[in-house]
Amino acid sequence: MIRVTYSTCTRYPNFTIISERSAMDDSGKSVVACLRKHGVSRRQFLEFAGLMTATLALPPHYQAQILHALEQKKKPILVWLEFQDCAGNTEAMLRSSHPTVADVVLDVLSWEYHETIMAGAGHQAEAALARVIREEKGKYMCIVEGAIPTADGGVYCTIGGRTALDIAREVCGSALATISVGACAWDGGLVKSYPNPTGAVGTQEAVPGVKVVNLPGCPHHPANTAAVLVHYLTFGEMPALDSYNRPLFAYGKIIHDQCERRAHYDAGRFTEEWGDEGHRKGYCLYKMGCKGPEANYNCPTVRYNDATSWPVKAGHGCIACASPRFWDTMSPFYKRLPNVAGFGVDVPVGKIGVAVIGAVAAATAVHLAAVTVKGHAHHDPSEEDKTLVPPSHSIKRED
Ligand code: SF4
Repeated sequence: MIRVTYSTCTRYPNFTIISERSAMDDSGKSVVACLRKHGVSRRQFLEFAGLMTATLALPPHYQAQILHALEQKKKPILVWLEFQDCAGNTEAMLRSSHPTVADVVLDVLSWEYHETIMAGAGHQAEAALARVIREEKGKYMCIVEGAIPTADGGVYCTIGGRTALDIAREVCGSALATISVGACAWDGGLVKSYPNPTGAVGTQEAVPGVKVVNLPGCPHHPANTAAVLVHYLTFGEMPALDSYNRPLFAYGKIIHDQCERRAHYDAGRFTEEWGDEGHRKGYCLYKMGCKGPEANYNCPTVRYNDATSWPVKAGHGCIACASPRFWDTMSPFYKRLPNVAGFGVDVPVGKIGVAVIGAVAAATAVHLAAVTVKGHAHHDPSEEDKTLVPPSHSIKRED
């Protein structure tokens, strides 16, 4: 059996070496047994289970069920395909370290193929992928990163002499389930943005009919990937999804409702320009183009960089990177745009979600009208009109 091995790399300090020998020794072991072998303590494992319970928005008592499942279940087999992208999602996954998401997700899974980071190359690497498809058909998970070009027969991305389109159709078509990570794998992302010369599309469009769980974001948050896998190991099924096949636990809430600057928004305290007193005091960034009122994602709660921060906390408005076609529909990122096709389409599933978004949009407009009168009466109203475009004009559902 050819077993692909991973090597150490100073860029990826969290990526534990999995030698050929240890990978083979681990086969058939439970997740917890593998964790112990790779030096993850019981305390770290409990922390991880707690994080997963919170990320999945489950009540605390589910932590015991998750622990039990991870102690019993065997390591799942996983392949990672990377196509047209910047490798940002691979970087995000490998950089995660709190609490040892990389240890848990990377070390304990049977990673059979990841062309970006695997030590094997060329024919050896492709042989490993072929073996998984042949011997583990219908049993392995496939993670896709990057868009898939379809123009001119898909020639704009080829690996081992095969087009990304051909590879995706074979690998995803034989997988137990496919997870698309990042904006590009979801709906084409940056690569599909106008004018899209390569005819790029996301996984679910390139491989119609396969079961895809989408984890958009630029990059996606690795805690959500871990949570999807843990949900599958614990409950034997993928989590509930919205109409874009995004997990509701991660994409069911509007960013605006989870934002620490929300109190400033409600009080009518806005940053008026970059670096002004309001910006330094952490005031709301809506006037600077923040798309938080119309974007769904859990990044305000899971946060990046060891769960320390996210863009709005760092002082930059949300660009709605987990929303449909955000490069085209949400840019320019520093202005609110009215009447742009697709703008404001990021909604929770079902009519209730539409109503909620509509209510938020309407409330945004009403709120801004109110604070303009109350708190900013000294401003030139024409100036307000330039920056405060109520999103209620453009709320559409794109089903
Ligand atoms: S508009 Fe943006 S910065 Fe202001 S409260 Fe909403 S999400 Fe936060």
